[in-house]
Amino acid sequence: MPLLVMKFGGTSVADLARIKNAAGKVKREVERGYDVIVIVSAMSGKTNELVGWVEGTSPLYDAREYDAVVSSGENVTAGLMALTLQEMDVPARSWQGWQVPIQTTSAHAAARFVDIPRANIDAKFAEGFKVAVVAGFQGVSPEGRITTLGRGGSDTTAVAFAAAFAAERCDIYTDVDGVYTTDPRITSKARKLDRIAFEEMLELASLGAKVLQTRSVELAMRYKVRLRVLSSFEDTDENSGTLVCDEDEIMESKVVSGVAYSRDEAKMTLVRVEDRPGIAAAIFGPLADAGVNVDMIVQNISETDAPGDKRAYTDMTFSCPTNQVVRARKAIEAARDEGKFVYADLVTDSDVAKLSVVGIGMRSHAGVAARMFSALAAENVNIKVITTSEIKISVLIDRKYMELAVQALHDAFELEKA
Ligand code: ASP
Ligand code: MG
Repeated sequence: MPLLVMKFGGTSVADLARIKNAAGKVKREVERGYDVIVIVSAMSGKTNELVGWVEGTSPLYDAREYDAVVSSGENVTAGLMALTLQEMDVPARSWQGWQVPIQTTSAHAAARFVDIPRANIDAKFAEGFKVAVVAGFQGVSPEGRITTLGRGGSDTTAVAFAAAFAAERCDIYTDVDGVYTTDPRITSKARKLDRIAFEEMLELASLGAKVLQTRSVELAMRYKVRLRVLSSFEDTDENSGTLVCDEDEIMESKVVSGVAYSRDEAKMTLVRVEDRPGIAAAIFGPLADAGVNVDMIVQNISETDAPGDKRAYTDMTFSCPTNQVVRARKAIEAARDEGKFVYADLVTDSDVAKLSVVGIGMRSHAGVAARMFSALAAENVNIKVITTSEIKISVLIDRKYMELAVQALHDAFELEKA
C-alpha cells in the first residue's frame, strides 16, 4: 500500500468540528487507496495552558513531570481523531509515543529522535486498520519516561514518520495555504510558491517564517522527505499548497525565492578590544556558554593606537535576539572581569531588524547583493551589518524601516511574478 503522512496543527484540530473536517481529509486519502499515518498537535492553546499549569505549580519544575503534563494535549487529540474516523467508518487506531514506541534521547523538553520502529504500526495496518493516529511532539526516553521535542515539535514528528515509513509525501495541514515569497501582512504582492527547495525553506524557517519547525525541515532535507504545506480550511487536492522538495524537482528557479525578516534583533559592539589571536574565542565562548544565540558577526579592520602603543585594536559587532541582550551583556562583563579581554565600551542597539533574501539561484548568478543594496539605497535605508552565505544575503537595518525595506526588496526582485 502506498502510504501518506498527514499532520494537523493546533488550529486545524481546535474543536470537534475542525477535527471532523480534518478527518474528512484523511478519509478521502484512504478512499484514494492510501494507508495514512496522521500526526496531531494539541488543540490550539492547549499546550500553552498546560505549560502555564506546570509553571503555576512548580516554578523550578522537574522536566520529567513537565513532559508528562505537556505531552497530554496531543493524547487527547489523537484519541478524538481516531474516534471521529471510526464514526466515519474508517478503521483507525490512536498511538501515544510510548506505544509505537517513538524512542528519543532523555533531553526532556528538547528530546531528539533515536528510532521509530515500524513493527507495531505495520502489524495494525496488516490487520486491516487504515489509519494510525499518532500523538505528535512526544516520545519515550531510554529510561522509559515520556519526553517532548520542543515547541512546534509535531512537524518534526510528522517528517520523522514519513522517513521511517518511506511515505510518498508528508502533508502538513495548517492555517495558511502555503509558503509565501514574503509575509502577506507586509505586502499584498506576496505570492504563494508552488515549490521551494529544502535549503531555501530551511533559511526561511530559521529566519522567522514560522510555518514549519526548523528541525522538521532539516530532517526532511536529510531524508529527502517531500513535504507539502497546505491549508486545512480549504478544499485541497494534489496540487494545493507549497511543495518543499529537492532542488532537482524545481525546474526553473528564480534567483531569489523569498524575502524573510526577523523583527526582534539587537546589535552589540565591543568597542576597541585588543586584536590578538584568541580574542574571538574569548568573547564568543562565554556567550555560547550563556546560551546566547549569536547570529551575525563582524570584526572591523584593526588599528594600532597611539604612538608608543604597539597593540592593535578592533571593534567586534554581533547580533542576537533582543530578549538575550541582558544575558549577553552579563556574560561579556563577567568574562572581562575575569581578565579574558578588555574593551573601551559595550554599545547595544536594540532597535534593529534583520532582512534576508534567499534563493538557490544565487549560486549561479552574480549581482544579487548589488541589486539588494541599490533597492535599499533608493529608499534611503541605511545598512548596519551585512552577511552572506551561498544562498542568502542578510542585512541589519533600523527596525522602523523594516516593512518598507521588505516591500522594496520584494519589488526589486520581482517576486510577485511567477
Ligand atoms: N503542541 C505542541 C506545541 O504547541 C507541539 C506542536 O503543536 O507542534 O508546541
Ligand atoms: Mg506549528
